[in-house]
Amino acid sequence: MYKNDTICAVATGMGQSAIGIIRISGPEAIEVSDRLFRGRRRLSELPSFTAAFGHIYDGDKKMDEVIALVMKGPHTYTTEDTVELDCHGGPLVMRRIMELLVKEGIRPAEPGEFTKRAYLGGRIDMTGAEAVMDVINAENDMALQSSLDQLSGSLRKAITELRDKILYETAFIESAIDDPENYSLDGYSEKLDGVINDVAASIDKLIETGDEGRIIKEGIRTAIVGRPNVGKSSIMNMLTGTDRAIVTDIEGTTRDTLEEYISFGGITLKLIDTAGIRDTDDAVEKIGVDRAIESMEKADLVMLVLDSSESLNENDIRLIEMIRDRKYIVLVNKSDMESVLGDGDLSGLDKDRIIQISAKSGEGFDLLRDKIREMFFSAEIDFNNQIYITNVRHKASLIRAKESLDRVKASIEDGMGEDFYTIDLMAAYESLGEIIGETLEDDLADKIFSEFCMGK
Ligand code: GDP
Repeated sequence: MYKNDTICAVATGMGQSAIGIIRISGPEAIEVSDRLFRGRRRLSELPSFTAAFGHIYDGDKKMDEVIALVMKGPHTYTTEDTVELDCHGGPLVMRRIMELLVKEGIRPAEPGEFTKRAYLGGRIDMTGAEAVMDVINAENDMALQSSLDQLSGSLRKAITELRDKILYETAFIESAIDDPENYSLDGYSEKLDGVINDVAASIDKLIETGDEGRIIKEGIRTAIVGRPNVGKSSIMNMLTGTDRAIVTDIEGTTRDTLEEYISFGGITLKLIDTAGIRDTDDAVEKIGVDRAIESMEKADLVMLVLDSSESLNENDIRLIEMIRDRKYIVLVNKSDMESVLGDGDLSGLDKDRIIQISAKSGEGFDLLRDKIREMFFSAEIDFNNQIYITNVRHKASLIRAKESLDRVKASIEDGMGEDFYTIDLMAAYESLGEIIGETLEDDLADKIFSEFCMGK
């Protein structure tokens, strides 16, 4: 058993708000809080999960009016004794109370340290800990659903089942080697081959959800390409609903901006290289195309914008050629104006992927949203039956596990001895164990928690 010191942190944001929560966890949480708190009853006498009204005092000086919530381990977030002080949510008052706690020997927590204690205390596994952060960071409903699902243990359960199957086979081989009279390895290789195929197929299925998982979590990386003046900035403005991109009639007047995330009908689009949209120089046309090539490489979705009021020029035609082998949507913009583009101009493109749009009137944006949904989320996403791998760390471990299983299969094919199998089987078992945190190196776990927010 490890013994922790007692830690404290402001668990709410450090801005002005109605209430600010200071969280204290560890063996001395209740005792120290009791020394600072004055109310009708002593905190140490309260039953677990009871709140008390009172004041925090620094000696005789009243610091704030608070509600103290007392929770006794092990049934708490951290598994330790925990006190939460609901103070007034002012940065100064919270800082003063934090200083008092530190004076009483309590240490300010590192980012993620409360969750780390939940993990070390065995209350949650690593997928659960990571899901906590994902819930906090979720930027759209689907990301939130997926993280809540992971928090409730869906991924842990799936991984544990796969590990159990592997462990069973390893144990069988070892028993058979130790005790050949009672366990026979006759015909075992074929059986093992079947089990490995099953496990590998399940791992593959999880890995395959990675792309969709990343899209759920981070958004669809979207490149908006097109020659200058077709209306890319205007379309972005329409999508973001702001005037952040500057639109003018003069080519090349729009400036660099950072990546932009936009929420579009429950989907997050991560607009990449928005600078490229506006980055024009002397060689305007050329750079437009070169930048487009670059940003298209990084994109899940390419939106090519054309101007329906002008005939296609050679840059349009080059861009049309370039998008063909990508996931694309062609936005034929300025549909409010008279069109000079005919069907013939766009022959060779998938009709289903061409949308008439107007960044001026807003026509076509509903269609665009439906089209994106259809392209990236083929079926309604159902989190009850499907786990989505949204974490690159998990995906990397799954790939390593799969590689180890491939090696077992190769050993079987090569007719190697059974004791060879166990080495790679155990390697797969450990790779899967990294996902739930069981075989994770300490410094790696520390690194994961260090990316958490303060007070969580
Ligand atoms: P970009 O260079 O591709 O980013 O193009 P801009 O968004 O800067 O637009 C160029 C010009 O086309 C501006 O004068 C816009 O007001 C105009 N424009 C953009 N979209 C539309 C549209 O749907 N209809 C009309 N009539 N004009 C538009």
